[in-house]
Amino acid sequence: MAKVIDGKMVAKQIREEIAVEITRMKDAIGIVPGLAVILVGSRKDSQTYVRNKKKACEAVGIKSYEVNLPEDSSEEEVIKHIASFNSDPSVHGILVQLPLPRHMNDENILNAVSIEKDVDGFHPLNIGRLAMQGRDPFFVPCTPKGCMELLHRYGVEIKGKRAVVIGRSNIVGMPAALLLQKANATVSIVHSQTKNPEEITRQADIVIAAVGVANLVRGNWIKPGAAIIDVGINPVDDLDSPRGYRLVGDVCYEEASKVAGAITPVPGGVGPMTIAMLLSNTLESAKRINKFK
Ligand code: NAD
Repeated sequence: MAKVIDGKMVAKQIREEIAVEITRMKDAIGIVPGLAVILVGSRKDSQTYVRNKKKACEAVGIKSYEVNLPEDSSEEEVIKHIASFNSDPSVHGILVQLPLPRHMNDENILNAVSIEKDVDGFHPLNIGRLAMQGRDPFFVPCTPKGCMELLHRYGVEIKGKRAVVIGRSNIVGMPAALLLQKANATVSIVHSQTKNPEEITRQADIVIAAVGVANLVRGNWIKPGAAIIDVGINPVDDLDSPRGYRLVGDVCYEEASKVAGAITPVPGGVGPMTIAMLLSNTLESAKRINKFK
């Protein structure tokens, strides 16, 4: 049976490490990291995500600033708030909760965030630097950064290994593939147009699945002993659950855990790592801006 990669436990450990670092910085230079979150509209799921991020910040000692704008706000209004946070020295990270209302152009808004405060790592300049050899971005997007952190903390060797990323979204698949390549893996990307994906995944020592299709990756897609990181979060009907559904990943856990060497569960794998990496990016930013080592 595969070793379980316990993201919940690792995320807790990382949050504790961050809290210690924040206390050290506060004691030394009297500054605490600040994270500004801009929420436009009243989507319930986005409100929950923002509330969770705020709670996580408070728990480690990061000061959070929140702006809630009505659904019919203009792009200019959002950008005005971003500009004000860009020049506010108590704010070290700025996050615009996605998705934005349809009448807004995501690109105009994300491009307005200073690349030095882009803790989501979605600014094209940060993604560009991630893609270039010999350059480093100011920030790495949180979910793929969390995947890499899990591989590192569980001692999975990456250098020289074959890795396959399933999915090529801007927020997970594409940056995950760039990170694996930066860590010297040989990387293939499988996507919705790939023919016979299982032939490619079967060669992989490391698989990162970020698709959004429940149980897509079956046991026979996996090379014995491979490390499997499952990013997918998919609700499936479950009449035994009080909610009427349960969450499963993109990987069929029951089958894969019999073949793989190590695997993340869903929930409790990558999910908790995403917020931990947001806190880590915010701390890193506050240290960099204040030249605190
Ligand atoms: P997305 O819809 O933006 O991208 C999905 C990608 O999968 C696309 O690149 C597409 O080409 C590929 N794809 C679709 N069908 C495929 C198929 N049959 N075979 C191979 N590839 C296929 O999704 P996303 O935002 O990258 O999210 C992916 C999953 O990860 C979702 O389940 C989402 O809920 C989850 N997610 C989890 C976290 C977390 O914190 N754990 C964060 C972000 C996303």
